Amino acid sequence: MTAQLSRQRVQILTQPVVPLALHYLNPRTIMGPAAWQKLKTTYRQKAQHHCMICGRYVPHRPGDWLELHEQYAYDFKNLIQSLTGYVAICHDCHLYIHQGLLGIQLQQGRITAARAQQIIAKGDALLKQFNLQKITYPSRQLFESPNWQLAFGGKLYSSQI
Ligand SMILES: [Zn+2]
Ligand SMILES: [Zn+2]
Repeated sequence: MTAQLSRQRVQILTQPVVPLALHYLNPRTIMGPAAWQKLKTTYRQKAQHHCMICGRYVPHRPGDWLELHEQYAYDFKNLIQSLTGYVAICHDCHLYIHQGLLGIQLQQGRITAARAQQIIAKGDALLKQFNLQKITYPSRQLFESPNWQLAFGGKLYSSQI
């Protein structure tokens, strides 16, 4: 059995890829491994073995765990990525959100093209079902801008020193 799908949940899949400048700057690294682990446990318990996006039953077997995802809102004008919450989601939904990472894994031969296609097709179908579209950057330049900042816990973080 899968949990019921909702537009609000599926909408999480529309999140654009993380801007280049913030690839190594995220709440997970700022809070440190112990706090992150605690948060992960809390959200896994909340999710009760079901992906908070697609509703799939996730057994917590090696290779099939619920992963904790940082949800962000994007201000493309002021180049601010703001943390809006967390969700415990399955690996497929997570890779669909982070499609840049999916591309890298494919390039490195860590997943097959068929598997990558399956992940994209599943996410695309979910979005289509609710008439949603993945958010994309207005330009490649904006994605690569060094000026992006992370808003988290009432503070603004910049990757520039
Ligand atoms: Zn899922
Ligand atoms: Zn994530």
